[in-house]
Amino acid sequence: MFDKIVIANRGEIALRILRACREMGIQTVAVHSEADRDLKHVRLADESICIGPASSTDSYLKVPALISAAEITDAQAIHPGYGFLSENADFAERVEDSGFVFIGPKAETIRIMGDKVEAIKAMVEAGVPTVPGSGGPLGDNADENLRIAKKIGYPVIIKAAGGGGGRGMRVVHSKSNLLDAISLTKTEAGTVFGNDMVYMEKFLETPRHIEFQMLADTHGNAIHLCERDCSIQRRHQKVIEEAPAIGISDEQRQRIGARCVQACIDIGYRGAGTFEFLYENGEFYFIEMNTRIQVEHPVTEMITGVDLIKEQIRIAAGEKLSHRQDEIKINGHAIECRINAEDPDNFMPSPGKITAYHAPGGLGVRVDSHIYAGYSVPPHYDSMIGKLITHGENREVALARMRTALSEMVIEGIKCNIPLQQRILDDSNFMTGGTNIHYLEKKLGL
Ligand code: ADP
Repeated sequence: MFDKIVIANRGEIALRILRACREMGIQTVAVHSEADRDLKHVRLADESICIGPASSTDSYLKVPALISAAEITDAQAIHPGYGFLSENADFAERVEDSGFVFIGPKAETIRIMGDKVEAIKAMVEAGVPTVPGSGGPLGDNADENLRIAKKIGYPVIIKAAGGGGGRGMRVVHSKSNLLDAISLTKTEAGTVFGNDMVYMEKFLETPRHIEFQMLADTHGNAIHLCERDCSIQRRHQKVIEEAPAIGISDEQRQRIGARCVQACIDIGYRGAGTFEFLYENGEFYFIEMNTRIQVEHPVTEMITGVDLIKEQIRIAAGEKLSHRQDEIKINGHAIECRINAEDPDNFMPSPGKITAYHAPGGLGVRVDSHIYAGYSVPPHYDSMIGKLITHGENREVALARMRTALSEMVIEGIKCNIPLQQRILDDSNFMTGGTNIHYLEKKLGL
């Protein structure tokens, strides 16, 4: 096992990783920007290094600074968390070429899965269901592209192979717009992602977002840890996540899960990863794989009892998975509300000093957050300041605990989205469950 790990991230996930390391007896190195000296995990880490100014380009995204931090502290591995460089194949390669372990998959796997056309090909080979589509990049032949769209059936969506963050996509409702949409998306993709390859898929109108959590070790073992429903979104950003997804039968779960396991084995996957699907009319359609830990991993931890961060570290150190597939059982239901420093009405970020803070608690309540009274939320980064997770023997109990927890939580001095979360928790369709990915925006009148 490693003696020392560099945590190449900030905020709640850096604290989450630090806690896992402490439990495992691993020393930690916190790297932080000049704006992040007061982060909670920086105070708790065994060592800390300032790696640059506030702007993430000059700090959290600065590869040489991160590698130097590992060198001067004699660390053996780097945990990238989520966001920043976590899905950057070049970074993973640089880390390993410099003699450190990247806590994540191999650079080549990140590269393949980062190219959506390649990822879909790999999934088709493993028997994972995908969205009906062009099955490969679109060429310049107009007749051929019109034929593909006709075969798939309108509406279709044109997507950039190198796209991410909900960008580089265009929905086409009829033949008359198709060719323009393809050339526009191509041009944009070339400019924004440096890769003008685009492909076509059937546009699903009312899908849910359901994803499978995976773990794979370097000994050829892979398991799935059931699914999460992340359909409550705004602008492709998840707002609430839960596990398991309601209405999914155990037969479906095991069937799709087994395909994902096969896919992990086929691509030589290593570490934690997620297969994202759209789910409509009882069918799953793969859209992409995330080759990192996700924000919403706690809901899976709550229902399975598996510590996903510790598993990531163990796998990176060459250990075998701690659990077999038949040991993974669903215990109850868990829900996560993202707590963002933003105006609950217009979603404008609301950085600044937190003057008072009271965290909720009690049975089945978990708070993953780095904030404290007196902490100033810097304006330079993502507005998420924590996650509130509740667990109960069933969905009703988890929901009731979430309502209670939200009502107990006090964050003063800045605006935050607790009132929005309370509105969603009181929504009758959300209470029934199974709403699609457009539901929240419709409810908000967006
Ligand atoms: P990104 O990497 O940018 O997140 P994804 O492929 O995961 O791109 O798609 C982001 C979102 O776009 C999905 O969560 C979904 O809301 C929408 N989307 C993508 N593909 C389709 C599709 N074929 N039909 C309907 N919506 C889609």
